[in-house]
Amino acid sequence: MEPIMEVTSATIRQQLIELLNAGTCGVRELSQELHQSEKEIYDHLVHIERSLKPGGKQLVIEPSVCQACGFVFAERNRPQPPGRCPQCKKSHIRRPRYAIR
Ligand SMILES: [Zn+2]
Repeated sequence: MEPIMEVTSATIRQQLIELLNAGTCGVRELSQELHQSEKEIYDHLVHIERSLKPGGKQLVIEPSVCQACGFVFAERNRPQPPGRCPQCKKSHIRRPRYAIR
């Protein structure tokens, strides 16, 4: 009998890539789908972003938007979500969403 296959980081990244190829997802959905913490998902996204570049695809980040004043965090290109709006200082931020294109 085969040993139970270990869920490795590589396996999770492959599943993440498949999900992001299929459609745009937020980290919370990805976290629930893959049974990983949101922090782990962010770490994987950073890794995936780097690993995709040579293949001509890229991780597309739909930026965070402040739901209080509409400020778009357009210049932010890291996967981690911002905590507060620099314009109105509120924390009603729609978190970023991700896709692979
Ligand atoms: Zn704001």
